[in-house]
Amino acid sequence: MTVAKLATILGLSAVMIISAGCKPKVETKPAPTAPPLPTSSFGKTADGKDAVLYVLKNKNGMEAAITNFGAALVSLKAPDRQGKLADIVLGYDQASGYENGKAYFGGTIGRYGNRIGKGKFALNGTTYTLATNNGANHLHGGKRGFDKVLWEAKDASGAGGQALQLTYTSKDGEEGYPGNLNVQVTYTLTDNNELKIDYSATTDKDTVVNLTNHSYFNLTGDPKNDILSHELLVKASRFTPVDSGLIPTGELKPVKGTPFDFTTSTAIGARIKQTNEQLKLGKGYDHNFVLDRPEGAGLVKVAEVYEKTTGRVLEVQTTEPGIQFYSGNFLDGTEKGKGGQAYAHRTGFCLETQHFPDSPNKPEFPSTTLKPGQQYKTTTVYKFSAR
Ligand code: BGC
Repeated sequence: MTVAKLATILGLSAVMIISAGCKPKVETKPAPTAPPLPTSSFGKTADGKDAVLYVLKNKNGMEAAITNFGAALVSLKAPDRQGKLADIVLGYDQASGYENGKAYFGGTIGRYGNRIGKGKFALNGTTYTLATNNGANHLHGGKRGFDKVLWEAKDASGAGGQALQLTYTSKDGEEGYPGNLNVQVTYTLTDNNELKIDYSATTDKDTVVNLTNHSYFNLTGDPKNDILSHELLVKASRFTPVDSGLIPTGELKPVKGTPFDFTTSTAIGARIKQTNEQLKLGKGYDHNFVLDRPEGAGLVKVAEVYEKTTGRVLEVQTTEPGIQFYSGNFLDGTEKGKGGQAYAHRTGFCLETQHFPDSPNKPEFPSTTLKPGQQYKTTTVYKFSAR
């Protein structure tokens, strides 16, 4: 029997160092508790770099596939009430889809998720000019946001579940933002059917940061269906109305008596066609909700979505003060995704946990400024069940 085989039987991993004239020497280290994450090629980026797909699994058979291109969630298999798994997020089959796509499917959004008015903000008396990639405004980090770059990935699995940690350094001046920003995003799939996303960042100069994930969910598991009969609950008694460029006016408007009241579970489509100025401006729902968070609360449940044909339930927990509810209004069948499926109008919805849009220009909103020595840290959990 070889030393390696013996070591395997004993549950040890063996490194044999054989050098001329020496006896084989065996170095032992404790066996890893889990096998490494399965990976596969996810195609190449336009500049010829290899993209990789990593798959996290839990003991219930749930699977989350994540690519290092854009630190994007590519697929998420969740059970229905019969225990049948189906992929419940929109996305592409290859990195090139993410690189060329305009819908931000599943991507990690930064340096600033959502809009900054006119692509300008002032910090410590200096005005910074960002790319304007959404009419007159800056959206989701600019022309090449964090969803369009290759991240470093490493297996971070541990007692909490299989996990992938992604790291990216955004250079001082990238897309117009000040400061070198080191960003880490860790996806963990727990045995409680939770996909937990931990974000952290540090900077060497005062800057602004607002990271989120842009997954489009369709809990039917079939993106040919629209999402209008999904029932949504959002624990928010106010939202931030917008102007024609979808920049918040600054008002925190009560949802009571409006189609924005999701404080009791209501079908997304129930009021979406009502005559309402805000629905008209958003072409449906595309608004930031001001979450009703108990003072000092950390990670709390802020939203729930129920899909009655499959029984699937998505619960959202976050440490963030806001959530952008976007009803997939700009999907129009031109984005072809996984398996060649054209994603039609409102076949996916997003619940993007965040600080409010345009906060760098709205001192009355919770601050998005990060200074050297501080650590940016937020957590969002998407939890799945069925009833
Ligand atoms: C924004 C939408 C935008 C979409 C892009 C959402 O976060 O609020 O206005 O069109 O992202 O897919």
